[in-house]
Amino acid sequence: MATKRILTALLATLIAAPLLAQQTTAAKMKPEDTEVYEPVPPVVTPAATVGAAPSDAIILFDGKGLDEWVSVADKSPAKWTVADGAMTVNKTKGAGSIETKRTFKNYQLHVEWKIPTNITGSGQARGNSGVFLASTGSGDTGYELQVLDSYENKTYVNGQAGAIYKQGIPLANPNRKPGEWQSYDIVWTAPTFNADGSVSTPAYVTVMFNGVLVQNHFELKGETFYIGKPMYKAHGPAPIKLQAHGDASEPISFRNIWVRELK
Ligand code: MG
Repeated sequence: MATKRILTALLATLIAAPLLAQQTTAAKMKPEDTEVYEPVPPVVTPAATVGAAPSDAIILFDGKGLDEWVSVADKSPAKWTVADGAMTVNKTKGAGSIETKRTFKNYQLHVEWKIPTNITGSGQARGNSGVFLASTGSGDTGYELQVLDSYENKTYVNGQAGAIYKQGIPLANPNRKPGEWQSYDIVWTAPTFNADGSVSTPAYVTVMFNGVLVQNHFELKGETFYIGKPMYKAHGPAPIKLQAHGDASEPISFRNIWVRELK
């Protein structure tokens, strides 16, 4: 019995000792011992209105022109229609998808989009477009954050608006009705690759859709594909691409697009 009591006491001492040591150290510390003064965060002036570009953003589209964009197919000037502060997919000229002239690694991106009021069709053929977070080729290649009318339009859930196409089901459905402007606020962490082309670190994405979290530091398994499993292929800094999807009955529009490069 005595041995058991001694062992129990010894055990209690062993468990308590580190905690006691920590408390003793904390008691000796001053508040300033845990205060950090460098590096000083850079001053960024926020926009006057919610959703507008802060002072350090690169403006990709402010409603006036397509200077920052080219056609994906041949890198000629982007041929989408600009009117009323918005750019709209141009179906008639076969203008195709467009992408930024600039290339990016990690970033914060704001983009607004609108499904036309008179949209028809169903499933994937109802306002289909997409924001390719990194464009990796001249087709629909890269990592697609789906744009679609998912207000009251059923489709596969990993292909509805807010989905990382065929990889990440959105955590919620905060879609507005066709005819209303909607927003994506995106934090993109680009994948990194080893010299032999293998993945060093995967891509991650966080997406707020109309202010609602739909992707929370989601780890991508590779580029998004219409057919087949996701797969990585080594690439460097890449443009951001907006999809001209052939199936939409009426073309969709974008506005107020800005990006902040991140380390
Ligand atoms: Mg799409």
